[in-house]
Amino acid sequence: MTEMHAEPEDGDLVAPAGKIPVPPHVSAAIRTLIEWTGDDPTREGLLDTPERVARAWKEYCAGYGEDPAHHLSRVFEEVGGYDEIVMLKEIPFQSHCEHHMAPIIGTACIAYLPRDHVVGISKLARVLHAFARRLQVQERLTAEVADCIWQNLRPLGVAVVIRATHACMTARGVRTPGVTMATSRMMGVFRDDERSRKEVLALMGF
Ligand SMILES: [Zn+2]
Repeated sequence: MTEMHAEPEDGDLVAPAGKIPVPPHVSAAIRTLIEWTGDDPTREGLLDTPERVARAWKEYCAGYGEDPAHHLSRVFEEVGGYDEIVMLKEIPFQSHCEHHMAPIIGTACIAYLPRDHVVGISKLARVLHAFARRLQVQERLTAEVADCIWQNLRPLGVAVVIRATHACMTARGVRTPGVTMATSRMMGVFRDDERSRKEVLALMGF
């Protein structure tokens, strides 16, 4: 697990309030990368870029400092007999692909069929972000979100559908803008019962 806010050592690495210190070897690595692209890391516009990039990556990957299951630890048992699907639709998220460290930008639909308790609805989005803010592949992100809900809420069913564009495909390589990748993970009744699966997919707008 990566430490999120390393305490500054006495002396040289003290950063302004709100900014985490960037170790010299990290900014050196980014300067090397700038040089490798063909630019001059010592020109004025690029002088502070290595530190900015380093801090930006700590934000992009903030999920390493989070336990996604923690967001599902507080449940509500008073659901007034509610026994239908609970869903968050088209939650926007950002991640980065582990093959190119390029942005993955998309939306997720997350649904579950509660057994006897529910979580605060925003918690589903928090679980998604905790897994998305890591280096990912979309297939694993989809499975991790679904498995986390399945294991921690023990619902009757979980359905996760993610649609995203991958900058590694749209901005480089085959350069195919506008292509969306879709992945899904169905568990419990949404996997085993065709009527339930159709119902949840219809709610998701498919
Ligand atoms: Zn990629």
